[in-house]
Amino acid sequence: MDIQSALKKGQSILTDNNITSAKLDSEILMSEAIRKNKKFIILNLNKEIKKKDLDYFDNLIQERAKSKPIAQIIKKKDFWKYEFIVNNNVLIPRPDSEILIEQVLKLVKNKNSLQVLDIGIGSGCILMSILKEKKNFIGTGIDISNESLQISKINGQKLRINNKLKLFKSNIDNFNIGKYDLIISNPPYIKKNNLKCLEKDISFEPKQALDGGLDGLLEIRKVINKSSELIKRNGHFLIEIGFDQKNKVKKILRDKGFYIKETVKDLSNHDRCIVSIKI
Ligand code: GLN
Repeated sequence: MDIQSALKKGQSILTDNNITSAKLDSEILMSEAIRKNKKFIILNLNKEIKKKDLDYFDNLIQERAKSKPIAQIIKKKDFWKYEFIVNNNVLIPRPDSEILIEQVLKLVKNKNSLQVLDIGIGSGCILMSILKEKKNFIGTGIDISNESLQISKINGQKLRINNKLKLFKSNIDNFNIGKYDLIISNPPYIKKNNLKCLEKDISFEPKQALDGGLDGLLEIRKVINKSSELIKRNGHFLIEIGFDQKNKVKKILRDKGFYIKETVKDLSNHDRCIVSIKI
């Protein structure tokens, strides 16, 4: 079978299984199966595929047909300027979270060496993108999940920043090490009861990284509470939030001695990030 016919077959299986991005996904999985980029695929549509690669492609299509996210199937995801290794133990990096990086870079333009803490580091995409941009920053990442720390360690190695990155397994309440100029967090913030109603893909991601308790603010409260102790005076605190949490989170922040500098919207125009300063 040639590339074009296999692509069409893959696309139609995905469409039959209600995958909306069937064409694109079929192309991405082909690229993975034959280990060639998209340009090669477009230029070689009539090329025959080796039996071994075709079998592999069919397997990948079957996984996607069950709604498994592409990033988990190919075990990687691009975020900011880098490629991060992911698996089903970490939240898949979202383009929306890149606004945290943009905001941080605006704030620290003239800063040379800062201590940065990421609460709930997951794959490491947020903290590591910052550490790559700012060579003299030192990072600390904590996470409650050992499995996710294994992934962030691998990503740190891949990006060659493990020499300026410390990782701790801890829940937020028990963490008391260091004082930080900058704290960032993308905590779980989805209401428990809404988790089931989200797209099927999301059911493949770790609940621990998504479940914000009954009101969605359970972990956000803990993160803000602890950050108010771990942050230096005048330090910046940036948190990702759910689209309808702005006012509640602002109040929690103010109660803990933070001044709200800005709320930033994501690519879909939803409030997604609050930038604050400890006073
Ligand atoms: N932005 C994610 C989503 O809506 C949620 C991430 C989180 O809870 N931190 O899929």
